Amino acid sequence: MAEAQSDLSIARGAVKRPIADVAARLGIPPEALIPYGRDKAKIDAGFLRDLGGRPDGKLILVTAINPTPAGEGKTTTTVGLGDGLSALGRRTAICLREPSLGPCFGQKGGAAGGGHAQVVPMEDINLHFTGDFHAITTAHNLLAAAIDNHIHWGNELGLDPRRIVWRRVVDMNDRALRDIVQSLGGPANGVPRESGFDITVASEVMAIVCLAADMKDLKERLGRIVIGYRFDRTAVHARDLKVDGAMAVLLRDAMLPNLVQTLENNPAFVHGGPFANIAHGCNSVVATRAALKLADYVVTEAGFGADLGAEKFFDIKCRQAGLRPAATVVVATVRALKMNGGVAKSDLGREDVEAVRRGSVNLKRHVANCLQYGVPVVVAINHFGTDTDAEIEVVKVAAREAGVEAILCRHWAEGSAGALELARKVAELVDSGEATFHPLYPDEMSLLGKIETVVEKIYHGAGVTAEPLALRELQRFEEDGYGHLPVCMAKTQYSFSTDPSKLGAPTDHVVHVRSVRLAAGAGFLVAICGDILTMPGLPRHPAAEHIHLTDAGEVEGLF
Ligand code: ADP
Ligand code: MG
Repeated sequence: MAEAQSDLSIARGAVKRPIADVAARLGIPPEALIPYGRDKAKIDAGFLRDLGGRPDGKLILVTAINPTPAGEGKTTTTVGLGDGLSALGRRTAICLREPSLGPCFGQKGGAAGGGHAQVVPMEDINLHFTGDFHAITTAHNLLAAAIDNHIHWGNELGLDPRRIVWRRVVDMNDRALRDIVQSLGGPANGVPRESGFDITVASEVMAIVCLAADMKDLKERLGRIVIGYRFDRTAVHARDLKVDGAMAVLLRDAMLPNLVQTLENNPAFVHGGPFANIAHGCNSVVATRAALKLADYVVTEAGFGADLGAEKFFDIKCRQAGLRPAATVVVATVRALKMNGGVAKSDLGREDVEAVRRGSVNLKRHVANCLQYGVPVVVAINHFGTDTDAEIEVVKVAAREAGVEAILCRHWAEGSAGALELARKVAELVDSGEATFHPLYPDEMSLLGKIETVVEKIYHGAGVTAEPLALRELQRFEEDGYGHLPVCMAKTQYSFSTDPSKLGAPTDHVVHVRSVRLAAGAGFLVAICGDILTMPGLPRHPAAEHIHLTDAGEVEGLF
């Protein structure tokens, strides 16, 4: 039975095709491939540039209801839907994020899909892959080193060491590094100051790599990074330290999209992986654009639930890159709806139709929210073995009440065969050409107005409050010419509110903006609402305790 097999053992049983054959399916010639071993490759920059004149395929977003701590199958559904469309004979590519090493060894496990809907080689994708994250870590830390070096050699720029906002990064969950005092040990080691580390996926360099249109744009964005402020409060940029050029050099290969394959040998771009709270949570623009030039249908995933992931996909990624999505798939599971209906995690295996009905308010709100963007929506019910027919029926009725169709999918257990009905429906929606995408708010709206709009129209909250300092900074950012940027909301992924325990569809919540941060290179303004960790910790028993290497050199325990 499929249930008895781990994701890793299914992935290991995959009959992979040489990556050049997978590339050929998209019309990518061998000379445009930069192979990383037998079954991974990057795509040459020159080839990508020459695609410019081609028409774009159709872009399909996979998002979800508010997740439970386990994750509810967005990646799995992205892969399953992509394989389903391919099985229908449609020329399809999928676009996913690269997993981070931190959660992989912590709690969440891998992020290459699951069951019979995965991308392979899953061990490589979940571990060092093609080295993109290492390059991003290095580029980020080069800038950090340049800052302290500049101060050490006399601080010509007049940087206020107390107002340096550029920290260091490492791709590991390591709470010991959250807050540090650095440069101890005397003058030879620099000027002591407080700082800390974030996880690599929280680096602005990650967001920049994922939003940059090309190498030129990459260089400009790196130069624009604000690293801190002078004693007179004016901003100091990465270009002032003159290392933006060297950072771009370190990122040259990381900017090229990675091509791998699904278990069914269909092409998959896995490229870039920014956080979905303090960043926008989508794979790279470069990969999405390449996929749109090479395939007729492109299925991509955004992080967390639709309140964070889809909102940022539409309002940050699509806005900046000029993308026009053609359909949205909202993934729901009976289990997560039950949790939204008040059932504890330990009781999820028991049938509870009423709890599913109560929890369905969460689904309905996400559907209504997504429809606001002018893009048609379909609900994918990602089937789990414990779901009952009566529970599934309740989800279908809820979707109908929200004005859309819900389709039961079994791609986790069956691969493309389990996603054919969803694929047919998505193709129909996309081909109908009914999408008229528009972002939620215009560029010209004030920064606070943008925050209020998201809270009103997406979170359905009762209003916004903010720390006085946050309000002053918003005003200063506008005076400094950043008022046109979109906002990137950082809040819990578990609730529409900022309280992770308020499940379902709360309405009376006030959203409090604790602080704001400028990501001038990425091109958004981060509004921090609630406790957001940019350096996660490990649980008492991290997944790393179960991961090991056999004497034959095979990875065990990765899931
Ligand atoms: P997300 O992208 O929403 O975080 P994933 O697609 O990565 O979620 O899935 C999270 C985990 O749940 C994976 O380990 C996957 O194998 C498992 N999973 C997904 N769908 C199912 C399903 N239908 N039945 C059982 N397990 C599933
Ligand atoms: Mg995922």
